[in-house]
Amino acid sequence: MQRPSTKSYFLKTFGCQMNVYDSERMTESLTRDGYSETAEIADADLVILNTCHIREKAAEKVYSDLGRIRDMKDARKRDGKDTVIAVTGCVAQAEGREITTRQPAVDLVIGPQSYHRLPELIARVGNTRERIVETEFPGDEKFDRMSAPRRVVSPSAFLTVQEGCDKFCTFCVVPYTRGAEFSRPLAKIENEARELIAAGARELVLLGQNVNAYHGEGHSGRSIGLAELIRRLADIDGLERIRYTTSHPRDMDDDLIAAHGEVPQLMPFLHLPIQSGSDRMLAAMNRKHKTGEYIDIIDRIRSARPDIALSSDFIVGFPGETADEAEDTLKLVAAVGFAQAYSFKYSPRPGTPASSLGDQVPDEVKSERLQRLQALLEDQQTEFNQRSLGATVPVLFERKGRQPGEFVGRTPHLQLVHAVADGDIVGRTMGVTVTEARRASLSGVIASA
Ligand code: SF4
Repeated sequence: MQRPSTKSYFLKTFGCQMNVYDSERMTESLTRDGYSETAEIADADLVILNTCHIREKAAEKVYSDLGRIRDMKDARKRDGKDTVIAVTGCVAQAEGREITTRQPAVDLVIGPQSYHRLPELIARVGNTRERIVETEFPGDEKFDRMSAPRRVVSPSAFLTVQEGCDKFCTFCVVPYTRGAEFSRPLAKIENEARELIAAGARELVLLGQNVNAYHGEGHSGRSIGLAELIRRLADIDGLERIRYTTSHPRDMDDDLIAAHGEVPQLMPFLHLPIQSGSDRMLAAMNRKHKTGEYIDIIDRIRSARPDIALSSDFIVGFPGETADEAEDTLKLVAAVGFAQAYSFKYSPRPGTPASSLGDQVPDEVKSERLQRLQALLEDQQTEFNQRSLGATVPVLFERKGRQPGEFVGRTPHLQLVHAVADGDIVGRTMGVTVTEARRASLSGVIASA
């Protein structure tokens, strides 16, 4: 039961969808504890920074935010008001006690595996004024104990099914900040899915740092894979769409590929990071797959689901990357054809093996390579969207747009669509005839419910 609202919190989320999901769960448990959200940080009794460690200097940016928040805490103190400052997420996990040492105004440091303890730890800070650092990895406890009922803020809801990663790509902090792979049992995921659908979700995005490494306990007690999990979720009434992210090529098994051809609710979209078109670079990144294997997966998934739209991640200028190897990435992109993609210049993340490699690529070279790659990817995205011109596509509307009467939704291929409607169509799937196609979005006219 929700307690009467007496205190307010301000929560800022950085980074990936996993952090967005974790912030939603923290919000739910704070609401149950009688907190209400405020958009004004100066009004907040509790300030939470849910941090991301993926970018270089991420921790430094957190410390500079914390300096400003400390000033606000001091000002509130002069007015006789207490403020609790909490740092959560991957910077919390990576830096631990260093955070309270460098910024003593911080009361709580909580790693991603301990969010279920948030209300208890806030109460302890209030009672004892001690500074608490909680960055253990207690396994599956977190999900079991974050038992507040799920709220839905969009018809497309995140559902974490897996956390952590055992792959240890040499550029990535995730195995250090999120720990080893852990999969939630099917029964618990089904329960959460039913709650989300009852609360208005029409689409579930299954989340995991390595989501297709999912190996949770099924109803019979034996372990099941992601394909089986998707089939079970597809049986739930009211669930129109299923997506999953982020996948690793190594874990793209035959059953999951087959599911793309068999499960109508599984949307024809796959985000499958490759990072580079050079086998030597992939080995240096410890990606555990080669370009030929990636192309083979793409061929097989296109056989199972010919209209699948593909997305990927690319790192440009990894240490030692030659001009020819950068060219190999362009060739791979040209050969595969992507509907969208994310591409970045390599930047060293502290604590990762690649950060101490010599032979760093000069920044201007990285910039030039990135520009060429992005130009090709943007052309492919524009061309992919233009193929929808004149077609009528099913769009699940997720929110209101900026213009009067405008709504924004997604096609099965994850394209963003703007359309105007008379009534409120958020949460409804409507046929939209596409009249305009831009690189990043479509516009259209509603044709049918
Ligand atoms: S598979 Fe993904 S999460 Fe795991 S180490 Fe590699 S990049 Fe990081």
